Amino acid sequence: VPREILTVLIRPSLEAGAHAVDAPAFRFVDPADAVLSALDLGATRGDGIFETISVAGGSPQALEHHLTRFARSAAMLDLPAPDLDAWRDAIRATAEAIDPVPEAFVKTVLTRGIEGSGIPTGWCYGAPSPDFTHERTVGIRVVLLDRGVRHDVERTSPWLLAGAKTLSYAVNRAAVREAQRRDADDVVFVSSDGIVLEGPTSTLVYRRGDALLTPGVGLGILDGTTQANLFRWAAREGLTTGFELTTPEILRAADAAWLVSSVRYAAPIRAIDGEPMTVDAAFTAAANAWLLELRD
Ligand code: PLP
Repeated sequence: VPREILTVLIRPSLEAGAHAVDAPAFRFVDPADAVLSALDLGATRGDGIFETISVAGGSPQALEHHLTRFARSAAMLDLPAPDLDAWRDAIRATAEAIDPVPEAFVKTVLTRGIEGSGIPTGWCYGAPSPDFTHERTVGIRVVLLDRGVRHDVERTSPWLLAGAKTLSYAVNRAAVREAQRRDADDVVFVSSDGIVLEGPTSTLVYRRGDALLTPGVGLGILDGTTQANLFRWAAREGLTTGFELTTPEILRAADAAWLVSSVRYAAPIRAIDGEPMTVDAAFTAAANAWLLELRD
């Protein structure tokens, strides 16, 4: 039986070089212990950022890409720059401490800390991954939901933090519940001006002929680590890869489509708003086998 979730608490001094050389930047704590203050702004306002990193065969995947995105999210929220060397060590230590399972994950969290303290709080924890066999093989039914912001929100309204991986995921969870009310499993967000964006916890990727495409950057969406890895694989397989401003019509006309993310990897879309979509089982299986084998 896999061990309980493990927690690594990073010392509050997260700024680069801020922790004394003789003091470790992090320590393991018992997840049952009270480690987070009720006054922490991460808990009271969702004011913080996170990353979820796949761990395959004990090895964190796309670690540098995740760390880069973590630092970018911190900058967007005016949080102190995380000490990436300390986080890298903590993530690896957490990954190694999880009981050996083929698939696990480590989640990192950085908050603005206890109100008024000015000292951020950081921690990470790890656990074995849920079983996503059904999502990866049978596929998922999605609904298109209006995100209520234009596709250029990142440029016009940076204070909305679109494109940062903030802790405020209540909206993303609410969108998935709306999908379930509509007899679906997941969501593809569309901007108020009709541009297809991303899932609540995933990047949209679709294939048209020999091209593997994604809605791209600058749209107030996350720069996906799984999408980046998938495109590396696709290029090796002889496909062209690229970004395209995607409309719902373009998506519906695709030969196949996926929501891709860390931990769940590539989940083929088998229906959009109740309309069946072809699942490319062989392509999906090959992509997921490759993603699972990644060791970096
Ligand atoms: N978009 C959003 C909003 C996400 O929350 C996530 C991951 O959780 C992704 C995209 C996919 O990113 P990654 O492939 O790096 O997990």
